[in-house]
Amino acid sequence: MSTEEVKLGPVHAEPTIFQRSVHGRSGHSIRTADPKFKPAIPGSLLRTRPAALPEVSEVDVMRHFTRLSRQNYSLDIGMYPLGSCTMKYNPKVNEVLARLDGFTDLHPLMDDDLAQGALELMYRLQEYLAAIGGFDAVTLSPAAGAHGEYTGLRIIRQALEKRGEHRTKVLVPDTAHGTNPASSVLNGFKAVEVRSGGTGILTADAVAALMDEDTAGLMVTNPNTLGLFETNLPEVARVVHEKGGFVYGDGANLNALMGKVRPADLGVDVMHFNLHKTFSTPHGGGGPGSGPVGVTKALEPFLPVPRVVYRDGRYAMSSDYPDSIGRVIGFQGHFLVMVKAYAYIREMGAQGLKSAAELAVLNANYLRALLTAGYHLPYDQTCMHEVVFNDHKQKSQGVTTMDVAKRLLDYGYHPPTVFFPLVVHDAIMIEPTETESKQELDAFASAMLAIAGEVAEDPERTKRAPMRAFIGRPDEVTAARHPVLVYPLD
Ligand SMILES: *Cc1c(COP(=O)(O)O)cnc(C)c1O
Repeated sequence: MSTEEVKLGPVHAEPTIFQRSVHGRSGHSIRTADPKFKPAIPGSLLRTRPAALPEVSEVDVMRHFTRLSRQNYSLDIGMYPLGSCTMKYNPKVNEVLARLDGFTDLHPLMDDDLAQGALELMYRLQEYLAAIGGFDAVTLSPAAGAHGEYTGLRIIRQALEKRGEHRTKVLVPDTAHGTNPASSVLNGFKAVEVRSGGTGILTADAVAALMDEDTAGLMVTNPNTLGLFETNLPEVARVVHEKGGFVYGDGANLNALMGKVRPADLGVDVMHFNLHKTFSTPHGGGGPGSGPVGVTKALEPFLPVPRVVYRDGRYAMSSDYPDSIGRVIGFQGHFLVMVKAYAYIREMGAQGLKSAAELAVLNANYLRALLTAGYHLPYDQTCMHEVVFNDHKQKSQGVTTMDVAKRLLDYGYHPPTVFFPLVVHDAIMIEPTETESKQELDAFASAMLAIAGEVAEDPERTKRAPMRAFIGRPDEVTAARHPVLVYPLD
């Protein structure tokens, strides 16, 4: 066994907090209640037996959670090159601002007059996003990107119904994120696939061949999930508009465009933003996101309520929009995510946002240039903010994308996105973002190229990876199909 295969010690096998439980052990020294004290809770609501909580000491708890936190990988430890996810570093000042008492102590039912500052922040964020996307109005309600897609398509459906039309289909390119067809179906539309063809770019002809008067519109991601700019988008949009349809823009990849191109200028009628991607707020692990939706004038009446408005010198939440699709979320959406995105936009300024987009594209192309020495690039052209390789060069040695990703763990990196987008078989999709320095990118590229070198020399070693991670190769299918979410106590 080589030194790298030696396990990392007892920390490795951290049991659950319930397995640490020792009967009678306690982590507090609070005196038991005075028997004279009568609980205010009615007897019928009281437990009949003690709660099944772990019996642990303070030191047990402290070590358990600190050890778990050390098994975690985060952006504060290193680069997170997860394609399509824009895992950029979130400046800590955003977190400080989002924790200000004035924001955290607000109740969502507070009278508008007592929440003028928060409403002003929301109003201004709407205005910034509208300016960045080229839209006439923006809603901040949706809780994440996919929810924004749902909201945007709901708006399109409502606009069509207002015209007395009940169209049944939505066109979705083969390069789309899985949420696009899912949002179409949730809105009662059939998702029809459009082939991107050999170039990876959508053509007006491919869309014209499918676009008809029963099609509500097209969902298009720009740059697409191959990291390529949709150069034909204005022409494609014209085809859709000529048949009375709408163009839905999936704005998850706006990090490549902000400050450079306004999607509405390319013919996009409605688009969601991912604040938790483009505007630096952290995401992952199911934490809160925010997926505001921008629309052109024609779709504005259908935006969800409540909307933040500025009238007669004060900010207010207004639901006075008779054609609105209604509410899509309880209260006002994920407000503290909005605070972080607003802080980020203010810190960066117009020039800063533009530079971020430029550096995101530069960084991806820098990695593209370095990594072609070891990996196959199926769509060999200048990319935008992300680049998609595959395992073509490693396959002959019996090594797959999964093996490369697992081996990266040994080098201390979070692997890139794998097996997505689906148009590239065994894809390795890398999005470095603009927050990585040249030194970080060089180190990551060295690790990737070292793995390519190992595969040529000793493929069996790569296939055994990871050797230095806390968990090796869990059965992901079983974990997804039969998740054990509760520790069996009885
Ligand atoms: C992330 C992403 C989405 C979905 O956004 P969520 O916020 O995760 O719901 C949709 N489309 C693309 C291209 C994405 O990258």
